[in-house]
Amino acid sequence: MDCLFCKLIEGTIPSKKVFENDRILAFHDIAPAAPVHILIIPKKHIATMNDVTEEDDALIAELFTVARQIAKEQGIAESGYRLVNNCNSEGGQVVYHLHIHLLGGHQMKALAD
Ligand code: IMP
Repeated sequence: MDCLFCKLIEGTIPSKKVFENDRILAFHDIAPAAPVHILIIPKKHIATMNDVTEEDDALIAELFTVARQIAKEQGIAESGYRLVNNCNSEGGQVVYHLHIHLLGGHQMKALAD
């Protein structure tokens, strides 16, 4: 499968890891949009949020658990942060392997669109 994030999981493409277990990988975004910009992904290849099933409930919950933990470790839990998932083309998704963006470290504006 020609999936960029699967290659990061396999290690054939390097990444700046911040967390890893058997199910989840988190790493710094290559083009950060905020002082803290970390991507949290399942190791299971799920293309988009639309492809999540009930079978993945525990995995999705764990992605958020990891996001909270990383936010604490990065020192942005109390100041605040944003979790984003882009789904499909109009949602701005570029990499078709499910991921949550953890963004923080500066003041963010209310969502405009
Ligand atoms: P999307 O637009 O929600 O699909 O976000 C994809 C994200 O992956 C973007 O923020 C990219 O900067 C990021 N990205 C693309 N290639 C790499 C990489 O090789 N390492 C880390 N992040 C990447």
